[in-house]
Amino acid sequence: MRLFKFLRKFFFKPSFDIKIFSKKNLFEILKIVNKVGFSRFTVNEISFDLPDFKKVIVIAPHPDDEVIGAGGTIIKLIKKKCNVKIIYMTSGRLNEKEIREQELKRVCNKLGVKNHIIGGVANQKLFGSKIIAQIIEDFKPNVILMPFILDDNDDHRKTHLQFKAALKILPKANYKRKITVWSYQIYGPLIVNKVIDISDIISRKEALIKNYKSQFRSRDWAHYTSGMNAWNSRFLNKKKTKAWAECFFVQSIIEYENFFKDIFTNQSD
Ligand SMILES: [Zn+2]
Repeated sequence: MRLFKFLRKFFFKPSFDIKIFSKKNLFEILKIVNKVGFSRFTVNEISFDLPDFKKVIVIAPHPDDEVIGAGGTIIKLIKKKCNVKIIYMTSGRLNEKEIREQELKRVCNKLGVKNHIIGGVANQKLFGSKIIAQIIEDFKPNVILMPFILDDNDDHRKTHLQFKAALKILPKANYKRKITVWSYQIYGPLIVNKVIDISDIISRKEALIKNYKSQFRSRDWAHYTSGMNAWNSRFLNKKKTKAWAECFFVQSIIEYENFFKDIFTNQSD
């Protein structure tokens, strides 16, 4: 087994592997997060509305992140006639590419997402920044949904490197300045300033997650997600009934770029 691991490392060296936290230890990262000054008791900027956006891009490092992190919100956006495009940064690992692409297509169909694009390979090569920049420039979204920058998964964090590089490529056009980034929650806690009540559609969200059958070999992701969304309902004023919510950290592009710079100090701007 050890020999296999060694050989695998030797022959399948990832072409895109950056130790993004190499110059910061966890304590320093926490100090940065603390600088934001978030507390659910001190931040009175939590909002609960879902505006009528015309165009939204969802960036999912792996097929299933989009529904786990923001499935309920995507359902609500589409109900409001929003044009949603999903960028899948990978279609999972190389050996599961085919099945996961079938699964994600089924999910897009059920969601009513007509536009999606599929990128690279998990743990190896994510979608490149040039393609992301081109998609943003062509589509001109109001909002970009993506996992939180400190989410506990390498591909999720690396997605931010590609996204930030894409922002650098984009011209400083007016539309770019109006974009807001909504970071969604997968593996870890999140700084929360936007809460979307999804109690009325939680069973639809669970059913969507169950389309990713290949992922259920490791965990029952529908169960985990509905638990996470139930816990998030502490932000809602529904103490006597069962409720579910998706949480986001919303930033303007400028706020996002400054936050990124603080976190990825070993990256050139
Ligand atoms: Zn993922």
